Amino acid sequence: MLSKNITVSADGTLLFAGFNTVELANKYGTPLYLFDEELIRERMREYKNALTDFFSTDSVPEYASKAFSCKRIYEIAAEEGINVDVVSVGELYTAYKAGFPTGNCFFHGNNKTDEDIIFAIELGIGCFVVDNLDELYAINRIAEEKGICQNVILRVTPGIDPHTHKKISTGSVESKFGMAIETGDAFNGVEAALSLSNLKLHGFHCHIGSQIFESQPFVTAAEVMVSFMVDVKKMFGYTADTLNLGGGFGVRYVENDPIINYRERIEEVAVKVKKICENENFPLPRILMEPGRSLVADAGMTLYTVGSVKEIEGYTNYVSVDGGMTDNPRYALYESEYTVYNASNAGAEPDYVATIAGRCCESGDLIQENVKIKKPCRGDIIAVATTGAYNYSMASNYNRVARPPVVMLSKDGDYLAVKRETLDDIIALDV
Ligand SMILES: *Cc1c(COP(=O)(O)O)cnc(C)c1O
Repeated sequence: MLSKNITVSADGTLLFAGFNTVELANKYGTPLYLFDEELIRERMREYKNALTDFFSTDSVPEYASKAFSCKRIYEIAAEEGINVDVVSVGELYTAYKAGFPTGNCFFHGNNKTDEDIIFAIELGIGCFVVDNLDELYAINRIAEEKGICQNVILRVTPGIDPHTHKKISTGSVESKFGMAIETGDAFNGVEAALSLSNLKLHGFHCHIGSQIFESQPFVTAAEVMVSFMVDVKKMFGYTADTLNLGGGFGVRYVENDPIINYRERIEEVAVKVKKICENENFPLPRILMEPGRSLVADAGMTLYTVGSVKEIEGYTNYVSVDGGMTDNPRYALYESEYTVYNASNAGAEPDYVATIAGRCCESGDLIQENVKIKKPCRGDIIAVATTGAYNYSMASNYNRVARPPVVMLSKDGDYLAVKRETLDDIIALDV
């Protein structure tokens, strides 16, 4: 099995986090998102302990909540004592309504409107991660109007190619995000930030991309960033106290993907950062990291019910399920790989090559092509593993399909975290 929380019961049904998936499908209906709450908590602690052990006691992970956002996940993050990243007022509002301390929220994004900035400041946002000069001046102006001094860090592009999918690579010079070191824009940003009296500059941020398996890009990015901080000190006499190294650690979607030890990866980065700081006589900054995918991806699983098995002689076997690109658009977007199980018959040897098709009116609405599973029939439950990140958060109502509910699996049992959308929810905004 792909991950330690996926097992098979004596009667051949698939278990997730020890729960019988077929029983959960009957209880809550399909499509259905499942989350292994204990695994999410374990990962949050792994990051938190690694950052405090290898850097400093005030170093902390920030959950990049765009990976999976609902009130419950912010409650869990608050209970585990970590920070969160938001990229929209929608995410910020969800965190706020969940009782998450907004002073521990970092506001990201490459285009924050004046309305966004005002809303975030009124809710007491901890820090803005500033993407560009226009935004820097806007935050300063609004902070002045509000009579406050706003904490900010600057997003810098370190000029790194992390060898991942182009659409999730963000650290190179031509990226739409941040201010590049190579072009001098990052230094201009520092000079401006230091000159504005309603901003308190704490340091810098970089995020090189997502689903990265190699360790070298992270070490190199950290090296570039610390060297940049040293240069900034020499140029402006300003010593930054915070370095945010972003997210991006890969997760295992298929058996061929490597297993990454996040603690060891963080230690490798720490060794490099400490060495440069020591050599340059630069005080070790507070380190922040922003894992999204690696906190929640393999804590998630999606269940579907099979509607039909269609064999096109000499071409493809289609297994159509009751969800698709509306609950998981990632194959349609980036041809992302997934592992699929016939959850009703998971003990049997996989004997059938199939393409798992969704029910939207798009030929590209596929969950995965050419997977090997035990041949299913109408009514069987299909499970897709590692759907915890960028599935529910990317879900849509295309074809006016209702979004599935989210069920948490915890040591105290299973419970609903997000309800299934109803037909009346679907027309709720129609005038
Ligand atoms: C998306 C994103 C993350 C999280 O990336 P993962 O690959 O999910 O860990 C972190 N920081 C920023 C700025 C992001 O845009």
